[in-house]
Parts: sequence; C-alpha cells; structure tokens
Amino acid sequence: MKIEKNKILTSLNTFKIKEYCEEFIKIEDKKELLNVDFTDDFLILGGGSNLLITKRLKQVIFLQTKGIKIISETSDDMIIKVEAGEEWDHFVKYSVDKNLYGAENLSFIPGTVGAAPIQNIGAYGAEAKDIIQDVEFFNITTKQFEVFENKKCNFEYRSSIFKYELKNKIIITSVTFKLSKLKKLNLQYGGLTQYFGEKKNITSIDVRDAVIAIRETKLPNTDIIGNSGSFFKNAIVPEQKLCELKAKYPNIPFFKAAGGFKIPTAWLIEKAGLKGFKHGNAGVYNKHALILVNHGGATAQEILYLSDYVENKVFELFGVRINKEVNIV
Ligand SMILES: Cc1cc2nc3c(=O)[nH]c(=O)nc-3n(C[C@H](O)[C@H](O)[C@H](O)COP(=O)(O)OP(=O)(O)OC[C@H]3O[C@@H](n4cnc5c(N)ncnc54)[C@H](O)[C@@H]3O)c2cc1C
Repeated sequence: MKIEKNKILTSLNTFKIKEYCEEFIKIEDKKELLNVDFTDDFLILGGGSNLLITKRLKQVIFLQTKGIKIISETSDDMIIKVEAGEEWDHFVKYSVDKNLYGAENLSFIPGTVGAAPIQNIGAYGAEAKDIIQDVEFFNITTKQFEVFENKKCNFEYRSSIFKYELKNKIIITSVTFKLSKLKKLNLQYGGLTQYFGEKKNITSIDVRDAVIAIRETKLPNTDIIGNSGSFFKNAIVPEQKLCELKAKYPNIPFFKAAGGFKIPTAWLIEKAGLKGFKHGNAGVYNKHALILVNHGGATAQEILYLSDYVENKVFELFGVRINKEVNIV
C-alpha cells in the first residue's frame, strides 16, 4: 500500500478535471484493503473513465491489483479470473488471442475490469453481464471478501447492485468470466454487418479489429480531448410515449428494450440542435451528441451546467427525461 498526500488527479480522470485529493492510497494487493483506514468520504478509483470529479476529495482508493488466471476449461468454454485493477481492454485482447468468444464486442472500452460490473458495461449489442460468472468484492463494513454469482448482481442496462445498493459499501476485487471456445458471433449492431459485407469465416479477432476501427472514427481520444464517453444513458420510454413521438417525428429511431422502448439519446440531443453546442470550455461533442467534452481547462461546474442544460432542453422539446451515465463525485 502506498499513500500520498495532496495528489493532483488531472491525469487520473479522462475528463482531465484538475482536482486534488487529500489522501491517495494505491492498492497493489487486495489484502492491503484490510489495513485501510477508510474515512467517511472516499472514492474508489479505477481508470477514471466514468467520473466527473466536482470537488477536492478526501480519500481516494486507487486499485492497481493485476493478474489474469485460467481457472478451468472444458471443450466448450474457459473460466478466467481477472483482478480488478487489470485494464479491461487488456483482458479482452487476452481472450481473443486465445480464440475465445464473448468479450470481443466490448473491445476498446476504457477502464478497469473491477469497474466493468458496476454499470454493466455494454457496446455493440453485448454487455459484461453476458460473460460474467461471478464477482468477488471486499465488504468495507465486515472486512470480509465475498462472492456474488451473476444472478445476485442484479444486472440491468448500465446498472447493477454495485452501482446503487452497494455503492461505497464494497470494493470489487476480481471478476470471473465464462468465455466460449465455440464460435458465437454477435454482429447485428452498430454497423458490424456492413463492416464485414460478404466476408466469411469471421473470428473474434476480426470482430475486435472491426469494433476498434469503428470506435476510433466515432469516439474522441481521451489523450487529446477530455471526456467520459457517453455522458447520458439512452432514454427508455413507454409505448404510449413512443407513439406520441412517432406521430411528430416519423423517423425517430427506437428499439424494443426491457421496460419499454429505447430511444438513442444522441438522436434527441442532435434533434434539439445541441450537437457541437458549447458552454465555456465544455461542449457537446460535434461528432457524437451523447458525449460531453472538455475543450481544454473546463471546470466540472461548466460540464454540469451544460449537462443540465441539455437534459432540460430535451425534456422541453420531447417530454423525455434523460439520465446521466457518468458518476458525479
Ligand atoms: C472514450 C470512452 C468510451 C467509453 N465507451 C463505453 C462503452 O462503450 N460502454 C460502456 O459501458 N462504457 C463506456 N465508457 C465508460 C467507461 O469506460 C466504463 O464505465 C468503465 O467501466 C469505467 O471504468 P473505470 O475503471 O475507468 O472506472 P472509474 O471511472 O474509475 O469508476 C467508475 C465508478 O465505478 C466505481 N469503481 C471503480 N472501480 C471499482 C471497484 N473495483 N469496486 C467498486 N467500485 C469501483 C468508482 O468509484 C466510480 O463510481 C467509455 C468511456 C470513455 C472515456
């Protein structure tokens, strides 16, 4: 365990917000968690890619535990346990290099393995919940390590038991995945079918390459322009609301989803004329309206003001409430 005082966090959050923390604790072995003197106000930090830091923080627990281990395998699948501080995309690459299927659509998502179950990360028609077998965590109150099987994690769209009920009560220490040795492709979403055209014999490595190529054209590089990916979740509306919207906007895109119909929030924001809109040094990304960006030196307050403005404008125009995906701390 390494402790630093008054650490600047600018390079540890992808929004590149300039903030400090009073005590910064780097954990390289999960057993060190037993010796942490937790304050009443702490932040567990992974890759800092789903955060908007709005204040000076008291205590940051920075998880840097590493390790990928094959637990067991059959002719059909492989069970792999990954420590929380491993980079998510490092695990995805490891899995496709072994010709396994299940993680490839989730290629190139920033952040750590330990954060992946929190909001049940998803992209290109896949979600982390589809491959998670169980999640191990440290219970801060009891100081015990516990394991929740997939079903107990209450995974939903960008949500889990860890994001709400167990927030700040536990620290995820490792995740065990079940990946398929049999070819199982999921190409229905995000332009993957068009990308491959007539190509035959597609492998998980090909899908990973395709996802990376598509993501690189759409998403801002966090080294160049600060952002936290999608700032908002997609909107879920009941059928009646969808009918109302369809009557007014016949071309509105929508998908059947748990709890109603999913409408891409990027479409709503763009239709509201806010793509590329700026407030101070904060802005709505001009290539993807779901992403708020730091054009350089933006304060968290500027980004928060902009996000409220976007939410209110969308509500005024469409009567649809959109919710933040990014964690505000
Ligand atoms: C360019 C870009 C693209 C993105 N694309 C996607 C995408 O396609 N799909 C998607 O779902 N997300 C996407 N994201 C969001 C982000 O990558 C994920 O949410 C990721 O899982 C966050 O991981 P992290 O380690 O950076 O978490 P952090 O930002 O460090 O933390 C996020 C939250 O999880 C908590 N947390 C972190 N680690 C732990 C732990 N071990 N135990 C308990 N709590 C913990 C933190 O306290 C915080 O509340 C994108 C972000 C960016 C910047």
